[in-house]
Amino acid sequence: MIAYGKQLISQEDVAAVERALLSDFLTCGPEVEAFETEIAARTGAKHAIAACNATAALHLAVMAGGVKRGERVLTSPNTFLASANCVAYAGAIPDFVDINTASGNMDPKELECRWKPDTTAVIAVDFAGQAANMPEIAAIARRNGALVIEDAAHSVGGALFHEGAFHQIGGHPWADITIFSFHPVKTLTTGEGGMLLTSNDEIAARARRLRTHGMERNAGLFQGFGVESGPLAEVGPWVYEMQDLGYNYRITDLQCALGRAQLGRLDSFLDRRRSIVAEYNAAFDGLPWLRTPRLEREEERESTSWHLYSTWMDFEWLGRSRTAVMAELRDKEVGSQVLYIPVYLQPWYRRTYGYKPGYCPRAEALYAGALSLPLYPGMTDRDVKTVIEAVLQLATNRVC
Ligand SMILES: *Cc1c(COP(=O)(O)O)cnc(C)c1O
Repeated sequence: MIAYGKQLISQEDVAAVERALLSDFLTCGPEVEAFETEIAARTGAKHAIAACNATAALHLAVMAGGVKRGERVLTSPNTFLASANCVAYAGAIPDFVDINTASGNMDPKELECRWKPDTTAVIAVDFAGQAANMPEIAAIARRNGALVIEDAAHSVGGALFHEGAFHQIGGHPWADITIFSFHPVKTLTTGEGGMLLTSNDEIAARARRLRTHGMERNAGLFQGFGVESGPLAEVGPWVYEMQDLGYNYRITDLQCALGRAQLGRLDSFLDRRRSIVAEYNAAFDGLPWLRTPRLEREEERESTSWHLYSTWMDFEWLGRSRTAVMAELRDKEVGSQVLYIPVYLQPWYRRTYGYKPGYCPRAEALYAGALSLPLYPGMTDRDVKTVIEAVLQLATNRVC
């Protein structure tokens, strides 16, 4: 079976994890710091803070970014639940901005329309690996004094093109905080894992504290326990202070050892993804019933990380349901996946915030025809051919 997405693990990865496993540190050790340093260097972010998954990193971003209970945070409906759930964790209100149909990313014009006086942050999502229009989104947010978070779970290793230059995702100036995911279907894996990137020193310090129970160990920043003298006031080397209510969102050294080994091959992973995308496009361009992924900025063809090959299919034209089409593909060993159900349609979101179908019509229209085809660096040429043949066969079996 050819899955829609999958990790690529080498002997190098296995050896790196084995070394970490036999070292003195399984967690809180040098692999975590080294992974953070290497991701910071690659992206150009001043700070990189690794977390146990991207959902935790998003929660840290919302908290460290200062989003308060009752405030409104605008995100894309065309995303995984985590981009909006992190807002609800903080007691704030997740709200949704309709998308650009071509890219599946938040449309800046719609962002302007959905803005309300209580909006204090935006979480843009780089759908399928293509960067959202961060310069325009940041301009709108900053004009309103709002925080900008980029959920770059799909775009690890990618770059955004703006005014004649490429800017690494995670290091460019149009996001205050960027989040990466290292789940196995993403472009680089640690099993479970995520990273928060920022160039803001205060946000970084808060995120680090919140990752470990809100504990501060730097004596220079202590606030004291309310006792002036005696043993309770002694500031010995054992003292830590809990200054905020944090969590245990740490990642292990085993995972970061894997991440570092993977990072060394990230460019080769991305090259393979791009060449598969080019092969698919050549085979599928011009079909009346299948829309290949579109770029908002053509310059990004070689800088987009292509987490997904997300097509839009006209199931009505094909004369059968998406379920039937997926079953036909599965019969030929071709996996596929539907990404995404607009988040606000989820029962919990409708019940909690009163959202109704029709709130973001373009996201709903995209969902109606969405089908992601297999895309991962371990695909063989034979696999790619199998997928292309199975997809082209769908039209031959058209039911009129
Ligand atoms: C995968 C994903 C996440 C969450 O990542 P985890 O590491 O699984 O928590 C968040 N946002 C988007 C857009 C994702 O695709």
